[in-house]
Amino acid sequence: MQMYSESDVDTSCLADRQITILGYGSQGRAHALNLKDSGFNVVVGLRRNGASWDKATADGLTVKEPNDAVKGAAIVMFLTPDMVQKSLYQSVVDDIDDGATLLFAHGFAVHYKQVEPRSDLNVALIAPKGPGGLVRRQYEEGHGVPCLVAIHQDATGDALKIALAYAAGIGGARAGVIETTFAEETETDLFGEQAVLCGGATELIVAGFETLVEAGYQPEVAYYEVMHELKLIVDLLHEGGLKKMHKFISDTAAWGDMVSGPRVVDEASRAAMKEVLNDIQDGTFARNWIAENENGMPEFKRLMQADLDHPIEKVGSDLRGRMDWLQD
Ligand code: NAD
Ligand code: MG
Repeated sequence: MQMYSESDVDTSCLADRQITILGYGSQGRAHALNLKDSGFNVVVGLRRNGASWDKATADGLTVKEPNDAVKGAAIVMFLTPDMVQKSLYQSVVDDIDDGATLLFAHGFAVHYKQVEPRSDLNVALIAPKGPGGLVRRQYEEGHGVPCLVAIHQDATGDALKIALAYAAGIGGARAGVIETTFAEETETDLFGEQAVLCGGATELIVAGFETLVEAGYQPEVAYYEVMHELKLIVDLLHEGGLKKMHKFISDTAAWGDMVSGPRVVDEASRAAMKEVLNDIQDGTFARNWIAENENGMPEFKRLMQADLDHPIEKVGSDLRGRMDWLQD
């Protein structure tokens, strides 16, 4: 494994050069503000009538429409939704300088050939392993979210140097930057969010809630048990792995964890995980998701509504309403 830290990075290659951030959502805002605070020359590219325009302006950033924003940029970072990157690239490509560096925070568009960049451009990935809010907060606290770096196309011979300088600018080099490939980042990221982080975790919570409620227990007690308390466990895992969690939970909880956990996540679950991974690797997932977008996302909306209508949401919202310190 190749891991870079701040001492390996030379940011002088970006001194006085323009960095353009396309999009100002979760990642875009964090990257733009961190880079600006690190002393770089940042321009944000947005649609003039979009909701983010006023926000970026109020944050003290230079904001232009995408075609103007990419002109003269040494780096163009794509931080719009993955499904928008193809059309956005096509609409700005003629305004991007020869030899500029295209950056992505997730490899989807390049790996699945939605974007096939001009051969004179560097194409690299700087993917923070955390949501945008955390990328900003950790930077402000003097820390950083670890990042992955990958090079898809090295047209000028210094793509890695430029990408690492960018990673340092957003604070990622403080935690460490691991070298990977677009394929590895894209496939592991999709698998993680589907099988474990988002899909796996929420399905486990909802199934646990339904099991308790169907057995006649109070929904409020079930909610505290399977959703509210999860944060405590995740924080322990994040800070110190399985060892720290085992140190802080009771022996009864640890015994139950070890004998019952494998009964719930069993061979059938592992086989399902392999199928999910296969769909990601052979492009089935990407093809379906792209088609869903092209059809106006009817299934996405239907499934999202079903999630939001689940009884755990009503119970959770009432209980969280009593804990006003949880509201941001
Ligand atoms: P987001 O949905 O939070 O923000 C998207 C931004 O793009 C918004 O400002 C929106 O106004 C703008 N936008 C949409 N269409 C546009 C267009 N045609 N032209 C210009 N701007 C447009 O997106 P996000 O979650 O920050 O994701 C951005 C990228 O970062 C994606 O590639 C994603 O995979 C990656 N990523 C996200 C996270 C995360 O935690 N959210 C983590 C790692 C990587
Ligand atoms: Mg991810």
